[in-house]
Amino acid sequence: MRPISEIFNLIEQPKSIAITFHQKPDADAMGSGLGLYNYLIQFGHNVTVISPTNWPAFLNWMPGAKKVVDFEMQTEKAISILKQAEIVFCLDFNVLNRTKKMEPVLESLSCTKILIDHHQQPQLDAFDYGISDTDKSSTAEMVYDFIVASGQSEKINAETAECLYAGVMTDTGSFRFNSASANVHRMIADLKDRGLQHSQIHENLFDNFLEKRFRFFGNILLNRMEIFYEYNTALIVIPQSDLIKYNVKTGDTEGLVNFPLSIKGIKLAAVVIDRGDERKSSFRSKGGFDVNTFARKYFNGGGHFNAAGGKNTESLEEVVQKFKEAIKENKEQLNS
Ligand code: 5GP
Ligand code: MN
Repeated sequence: MRPISEIFNLIEQPKSIAITFHQKPDADAMGSGLGLYNYLIQFGHNVTVISPTNWPAFLNWMPGAKKVVDFEMQTEKAISILKQAEIVFCLDFNVLNRTKKMEPVLESLSCTKILIDHHQQPQLDAFDYGISDTDKSSTAEMVYDFIVASGQSEKINAETAECLYAGVMTDTGSFRFNSASANVHRMIADLKDRGLQHSQIHENLFDNFLEKRFRFFGNILLNRMEIFYEYNTALIVIPQSDLIKYNVKTGDTEGLVNFPLSIKGIKLAAVVIDRGDERKSSFRSKGGFDVNTFARKYFNGGGHFNAAGGKNTESLEEVVQKFKEAIKENKEQLNS
C-alpha cells in the first residue's frame, strides 16, 4: 500500500469515485463516508456512497444520506457503479470481509483502491494507496487529516463538518476515551470555527429514539444480563425472540454493551445477539484487557484494544458456552 499523500493530485481532476465502509455502518463509517462525499463533490467528481448493508435510521439526517446506495437492496446498481469507478475509497474497515456480500466484487475490481482506517491488522495487500493508523480516534478524524494535509481545508463546508463531527464524537464515546487526543480537540475547534453547530448533532444521534427501544433496553437489562463477579465480566445474551417481540431494527442494539461496563468493577462487557443467520458479538473493556485479541481468538472477529466484535455460526447456546470458557481461560488478565 502506497502512502495516501500520493493521491492528492489524483483527485484534482473530475473522476468517477465510489466510497464504501463496513457493513451495518455506525456513525463513524457513515460520517467519514459522507464527510468525504461532501468534500469530493466540490471538485466536480461523480461520487457515489455505497453501503454494504442497510444502516440505522438515526443516521439519515447526515447530508447526502438519502443518496447512499444499499448494496443488498440495489445490488445491480451498486455493482455497475463499482465497475465504472476509477477510484474506490474503503473507509473504517481493515479486512474486505467486513463488507459482507460486497467482498468478492471489491476483490474483482482493477481500479485504484484507497484505504483510510484505524483498525488493527489491516489487509494491506488489498489496497493500492492508503493510511492505516490505530492511534487515530476515528476514520472521520483521518478523513479530516487527509483534507488538511492535501491543502484543501477551505473546502470543509457545513455538510462535511457535520458528518465528520458525528464520526469523531461517537467513536470517542463523546470525547471520553483516551483516543480523544489533543489533535481531536483541535480538529473540533477548527470545525467550530467553520460554523459547526455541534449540539444539534448530539440531538440527532441520541435524542431520536423510539419508546420501544427503551422498553427493549429495560427488558434486556432486567432479564438478559448476567454478571460474573469472579471474572469482572458482564454478559448480555439476546435471543431472536426478543428482536421479534420488540421489533428491533438495525442500530437499535447499539450502545447496549456500554451499560454493564459502567457497573463498578466490571472490566469486560459482552453482548451476544442471535441475528438468525449468525450470532453477532460485541466486546468492550476498560483498562488493560485486550478485546481485539479476545474477539480474534474465540469469535472470528477483531476491532480495537477496548472495543471489538465478532460473529459465529454456532448456536446461541454454544457461543455462550464458548464465552464462559474463554473468560475462565482469561481469568488472570481479567483480575489484574
Ligand atoms: P461493534 O461492537 O460496535 O459491532 O464493533 C466494535 C468494533 O469492533 C468496531 O470497531 C468494529 O469495526 C469491530 N468489529 C465488530 N465486529 C467485527 C467483526 O466481525 N470482525 C472484525 N474484524 N471486527 C469487528
Ligand atoms: Mn471507526
